[in-house]
Amino acid sequence: MSAFILEKLCRGCQRCVHACPQNAILMVAHLAVVKPERCIECEECMEVCMQGAITFRDENGEDIVHG
Ligand code: SF4
Ligand code: SF4
Repeated sequence: MSAFILEKLCRGCQRCVHACPQNAILMVAHLAVVKPERCIECEECMEVCMQGAITFRDENGEDIVHG
């Protein structure tokens, strides 16, 4: 499981990028993208996202928690 950014909600503010202790979030074309292999599921990114754009997904791509 890892954090997952919902593209339609992301405003590219980069708050999550700076909050992530694992450097697991990159900006790609002005949107945040999580590298799942680096994510430790600390939820720091979800805490700082003002857009509710961050959720958690299991290996099947199902939403676990909606931020
Ligand atoms: S904090 Fe939220 S809105 Fe800002 S870049 Fe990250 S996912 Fe996008
Ligand atoms: S849950 Fe934690 S480790 Fe994973 S992307 Fe968010 S801030 Fe980074």
